[in-house]
Amino acid sequence: MKKILLLSTGGTIASVPSGEGLAPGLTGEKLLEGLSRPDIPFEVHCRELMNLDSSNLQPEHWSRMAEAVFSALPLCDGVVISHGTDTMAYTAAALSFMLQNLNKPVILTGSQLPMDAPESDGPKNLSDALACAADGRLHGVYIVFDGLVIRGVNARKTDTRKRHAFESVNAAPAGRLEKGRLFLNGEPKPPTGLPLTLNANVSPGVLLMKLTPGASPALLEAAPGLGFRAVLLEAFGLGGIPGLDRSLLPSIRSLSEQGIPVAVTSQCAFGDCDLSVYDVGVQAAKAGALCAGPMLTETAIVKLSWILGQTKDYRTMVRLFLENLAGEFDKNNENPI
Ligand code: ASP
Repeated sequence: MKKILLLSTGGTIASVPSGEGLAPGLTGEKLLEGLSRPDIPFEVHCRELMNLDSSNLQPEHWSRMAEAVFSALPLCDGVVISHGTDTMAYTAAALSFMLQNLNKPVILTGSQLPMDAPESDGPKNLSDALACAADGRLHGVYIVFDGLVIRGVNARKTDTRKRHAFESVNAAPAGRLEKGRLFLNGEPKPPTGLPLTLNANVSPGVLLMKLTPGASPALLEAAPGLGFRAVLLEAFGLGGIPGLDRSLLPSIRSLSEQGIPVAVTSQCAFGDCDLSVYDVGVQAAKAGALCAGPMLTETAIVKLSWILGQTKDYRTMVRLFLENLAGEFDKNNENPI
């Protein structure tokens, strides 16, 4: 019989009224009592890693999750992580970089309403996540939510309240679940065959700056003094960055020369960043800006944090950022599994 490990970390799915708003309180065993399809044909073991609202999760918690998955995988067929929805996409991206050569599935799920609440989406989401983990075809990190299977590096929370809370951005969903059956959107790529590796070091020293018309370069200039070691600019459209009034270009150049990588994503909800189309992108690239292509802001900031945990060498940071490590640079029409 297949064995699945449920790592519980908190979130709304595990929440109960606290008198001061919802707060996580339910154990993994308690979550399992509420499954929408309790007659599962596999064993589920529970381990509580933490019981936090995901707004309280820090990069160190991603490392703890990755370490727990790494030590559990040789002993089970897949891992499900119950998690708050608010920062689930960041954790999914982090696990995608920290755990390389996965040949088994790591599935994150949660819910918009507590497991115990009437009409909760928790029972279905958790049942679906367990079904995906036990299915045997998937390997890698995915979010399973409201019937969608989304690759970890493509997931974004797009709605604060609806059951349909996540979208797959810049890639088709990997699959969908209907009445507990998994339908994949293509043939899964074969696992690399290399041993699973754990690189769980991560650093929080990344500054994210969303550009607005009139944005001052002062924040960028202050970044090194404030201890930031990498910068992510969420720029306009395809990656436009002001280069006339309040030009950001001298700051980008100076940061790059100081060994601080400056990467660029788009603030559009969908679509890639391409610094080669407009002069306002070309000049930024000439100043040293690194184009994140189809990477979501969530994925790019996590990738930079992970890179800071791997090396201090600027050239290695640039090489790692531009390398397709977990499918984050895959083109829209490529197989999302
Ligand atoms: N605040 C909750 C969390 O992220 C929201 C949720 O789980 O839906 O932990």
